[in-house]
Amino acid sequence: MKKYLAPILMFIIFETVAITLWLTKDNVFYLFNFSYIGLSVSLGIFLFIRNYKHARRIVQLLVGLYMLIYLGLICNENMQIEGFWYYLFTGVFEAATIHYAVAKIFGPLLFGRGWCGYACWTAMVLDFLPYKTPAYPRKNIEWIRYITFTVSLIFVASLFLAKVGNIERIMFWAFIIGNVAYYAVGIGLAFAFKDNRAFCKYICPITVFLKPMSYFSLLRVKCDKNKCISCGKCKRVCPMEVDVTDNSRKRKNGTECILCMECVKNCPKNAL
Ligand code: SF4
Ligand code: SF4
Ligand code: SF4
Repeated sequence: MKKYLAPILMFIIFETVAITLWLTKDNVFYLFNFSYIGLSVSLGIFLFIRNYKHARRIVQLLVGLYMLIYLGLICNENMQIEGFWYYLFTGVFEAATIHYAVAKIFGPLLFGRGWCGYACWTAMVLDFLPYKTPAYPRKNIEWIRYITFTVSLIFVASLFLAKVGNIERIMFWAFIIGNVAYYAVGIGLAFAFKDNRAFCKYICPITVFLKPMSYFSLLRVKCDKNKCISCGKCKRVCPMEVDVTDNSRKRKNGTECILCMECVKNCPKNAL
């Protein structure tokens, strides 16, 4: 039973958030939403412990499709970064703001970039592409993410400054067009750079929040130096090129870790 402590703990954390938001916001949606996500993540951890090789993909599909199809397309909630700015400017602490607070701003202090490994609907598609590990060394173009971040902020701010009417409708279309653009650029870059996660490394604006917060993450992959034989397999299978044998928080690409556990699964000495 002890080995199932992690999924139980994860479910309790999500359920606590679900009940707290349900009661404080007097909205049963939050109970359903966070219970569903908590159940999906806990199921994934449970399957991982049972050595089921598609455990992470199942969580990605369960959470990613729910957010993209149900929340985005059916409920018209723009959960992309533009939606976050929109709710922030309107001063409404609703779905997109809560989502960002939990998954992308404060949550990473606890579970790092777990969002990127298990829940993001962009990566849900990118991870199906053939380049699971990058074919070439990282390129020095990570600054592009600051441009996409700034453009998204300017876009929403200018709608408010210009007092454009029916911004909610614009946000819905921004969600559709934004997602189509993300998928097109993400898939194009994956093939161009032979790296499924090229979009995550260079373009995604959300990493501007995720990276600094995940630096302090409680949940991290650590290396037991007494067991490690420096075979280098962990680095070869890492989609994000993290120097995972270095335990320091400043390890190379440390804030890029998406907790996919490929290194852990492949370590021949169980050192991770
Ligand atoms: S970096 Fe961006 S696109 Fe990639 S998984 Fe994270 S949030 Fe999704
Ligand atoms: S795969 Fe395991 S043994 Fe090999 S370098 Fe990485 S941590 Fe060390
Ligand atoms: S392979 Fe290991 S170090 Fe690399 S992203 Fe996955 S969990 Fe993090």
